[in-house]
Amino acid sequence: MKNLPNFTDSLTQLIASASISSPQPSWDQGNLAIIQLLATWFEQLDFSIDIQAVPNTRNKYNLLAKLGSGEGGLLLAGHSDTVPFDENRWQSDPLKIVNKDEKFYGLGTCDMKGFFAFIFQVCKGLSAKQLKKPLYILATADEETTMAGARFFTKSQQIKPDVAIIGEPTNLVPVIMHKGHMSHRITIHGQSGHSSKPSLGVNAIEIMYQVIGQLMVLKEKLALNYSNQAFDVIEPTLNLGAIKGGDNANRICGHCELDIDMRSLPGMTDNELIQLLSEALKPLAEKYPNKVSFAELDPSSPSFEQNKNSELVILSEKISGHKCCAVNYATEAPFVQQLGCQTIVLGPGSINQAHQPNEFLAHSEIGKTEDILLKMIQHYCY
Ligand SMILES: [Zn+2]
Repeated sequence: MKNLPNFTDSLTQLIASASISSPQPSWDQGNLAIIQLLATWFEQLDFSIDIQAVPNTRNKYNLLAKLGSGEGGLLLAGHSDTVPFDENRWQSDPLKIVNKDEKFYGLGTCDMKGFFAFIFQVCKGLSAKQLKKPLYILATADEETTMAGARFFTKSQQIKPDVAIIGEPTNLVPVIMHKGHMSHRITIHGQSGHSSKPSLGVNAIEIMYQVIGQLMVLKEKLALNYSNQAFDVIEPTLNLGAIKGGDNANRICGHCELDIDMRSLPGMTDNELIQLLSEALKPLAEKYPNKVSFAELDPSSPSFEQNKNSELVILSEKISGHKCCAVNYATEAPFVQQLGCQTIVLGPGSINQAHQPNEFLAHSEIGKTEDILLKMIQHYCY
C-alpha cells in the first residue's frame, strides 16, 4: 500500500510550497516545487504527467495529469500560484496550515491550492480501468498576474475534454459568466517649451483634456448601448486610473500619459472594445497628427459565458443545489473554454477570503466538495 497523504497533510504540503506570483520581481517566485509535488502525487495514482515550461515567465510551469484514455472526458483545472501576503496582517504564518475553529487557515487554502487537495483525495479511489473517458487535472502558472500559464496551455494543447470545471472559490455555486478586462495607456507626445511662449510648444495636458472629454462620451455610449442584467454593474465599464504629465508650472507640458481600464460584457470581443476606443480618439489623432497614441498595458483577458442551458450547467446546479450566477472577478475560464469544452467555475471557499489576510477554507466545505467532484467524474468519465 502506498503511503499517500490524507486531506490535511496534502493541504499542508501545498500551502508550504510557496508559489507567489507578482509583477514585482522581489515577490515573484517560481512554481516548480508545487508542480513537482502534484506530479509525485498523481503519478502514484497512475496518472501520466506532462510538465510544460511557460515561455516568457520567470521559471513557471503548467502541469497536466491524465488518467484513462479516449476522447472527451472531464478537465479539473486551477492555478498553482497565490498572491503575495502582508505578514503583519496575518495572525499566523501564511505558509503553515492552522487548523482552528473548524477552519484551515493558510495562503491559498481557498484561492486555490486547496482545490488540488480535494481532487487528490477523490482520485485516490479511482482506477484507469473504471474510466471510459479520460480525467485530466490541470495546474497553471501565473493566474494572479498575466494568466500566462492558461494562455500558453490553450494555445499549445491538443486535448479536447467534453467539460471543464475551474475550482476557484465560488462557495460551490456554478459560475457561468464574468466580464473581460483590458488596460491601455494613452500617450500624448507634445512639445515642451517656456510657458511665456505657448506658440513654440504643444501642450500635452491640453490635448489630454480633450482626450478625457472623448473618453467620457465613450463611457456614456457604452452604458447606453450595452447591458447585461446578470451583473451588479450591468454595463461595460471604463475607468480613468492614473495620469502623469509635466514637471513644472512654467514649462509647457511635453508629455502626458493616462492609464485606463475597460471591462467588457460577455458577447463583446476585445477587438470591438479596442475599436470603440480607437474611434473615440480618432478626431484628436487627426487634429494632432502623430501626437496621440494608445497601447495595451497588460495582456487583456476576454469575457466569459457558458450557456445556462448547457448540460454541464444544468447538472452542476442539480449536484451543487445552487443556481448558476455571474461574478465580478476574472478567471482562466475564457482560455480553458477555447479548448472547445463546456466550462464552469465552481469550487470550495469564498472569494471574500481570497487575497485577504487569514485566508481560510471551512471544514464544512470538505464533504460537499468531494461529493460534487466524485459525481462529476462519475458522470463524465464512467
Ligand atoms: Zn484564484
